[in-house]
Amino acid sequence: MKITDIRILEVTAQIPVEDAAAARPVDGLLSPAFLYPAYREKVAQAGGHLFFSGQPPQPPGRLVGTFVVVETDAGVTGLCPGGAGPQGHVITHNLKPLLLGADPFRVEMLWDMMYRSQVLGRSGVIMMAISVLDCALWDLIGKARGETVCSCLGGPTRDAMPAYASALGYSVDPAAAAAQATRFVEEGYTAMKWFFRRGPADGVAGLQENLALVRAIRDAVGYDVDLMLDAWSGWTREYALKILTRLHRYEPRWVEEPTLTDDVDTLAFLRKATGIRISEGEREFTIWGFHRLIEKEAADILSPSLTYCGGFSQFRKIAALAEVAGLEVIPHDGFVGVLHAMLSQSPALCPMGEYLIKANLTRQRLFQDGLYPRNGFLTLPDRPGLGLVLNEDLITQTRVLTF
Ligand SMILES: [Mg+2]
Repeated sequence: MKITDIRILEVTAQIPVEDAAAARPVDGLLSPAFLYPAYREKVAQAGGHLFFSGQPPQPPGRLVGTFVVVETDAGVTGLCPGGAGPQGHVITHNLKPLLLGADPFRVEMLWDMMYRSQVLGRSGVIMMAISVLDCALWDLIGKARGETVCSCLGGPTRDAMPAYASALGYSVDPAAAAAQATRFVEEGYTAMKWFFRRGPADGVAGLQENLALVRAIRDAVGYDVDLMLDAWSGWTREYALKILTRLHRYEPRWVEEPTLTDDVDTLAFLRKATGIRISEGEREFTIWGFHRLIEKEAADILSPSLTYCGGFSQFRKIAALAEVAGLEVIPHDGFVGVLHAMLSQSPALCPMGEYLIKANLTRQRLFQDGLYPRNGFLTLPDRPGLGLVLNEDLITQTRVLTF
């Protein structure tokens, strides 16, 4: 079998009005760049758009998804979400020429060739482009073998994955958050993650707002529910030390990205100084990036993004590193590929998965049999490969993007 073409498709779907309304963020993320009022102003003017490559803007009422499609002379294709913006340029001009004519089953060689060729792209947009192609190749391999990607990776270690409710986009007003946290528990979730909105630029009042959010959620759901907290790299070392010390009594299962990912010494310091478990890595890349976090003892939980870290081919190696170091791997939510990857690993290593409630309300609509948790559990689609089939009923437009 040979790869004959790689295309980037842009698919536009009409979202049901009630889903579009429910998915609209009330509160967004705290950015590390919010230290600068000028940046904050630009984000506000752009309706919350944070201007980074992982976040293409979405038109209201519609959902635009991009997909990388790998085609072969045998008619089998591989599909993975991604390829928008600068990734599309890298795929078209740097990586596609390397893959044309190659045997898609030699995925380890293809990953290594892509990686070694991109001497200026060991991370960032170029590694995201390599990751998406790697995931599309694994989808293709699964389809050609008539097996799920999870099966190709060794098979599922259990039938279903506990999902935790990830509350990005919900109101952080304490009363509203407490009510929503209670609803998550009623829906069957036993773990949830909330996102802080305040950082060093918001002073003492902001710090009190952050603490009030956590207090309200704990008061609402008690201490038997796992509560995780995410600062999206938005704090400085001093601020993080102050707030983590005060958060200790609320028993978070972990605090995610308290400071910048690159600042591994600070992460290690915070872990040791506060005794709070730290999750890190959704914007880290390759085994070498994760090895640095492990070596510096900067995290208890690694949270790779499958479509950033290097795809399945790197994920399984990152998982092996984490297993040896006694860490957990609880990846960043992205798409169904993450579930295939997690279910192929020991429950001791990958005990549960993130499910972004609001984002998935719309993005799962792009697919037939979208991924929705039942009673707090996710199960794999019963289809070969990744199991992604576009939902033609809602798609109003499909076009091939050129770069
Ligand atoms: Mg996160």
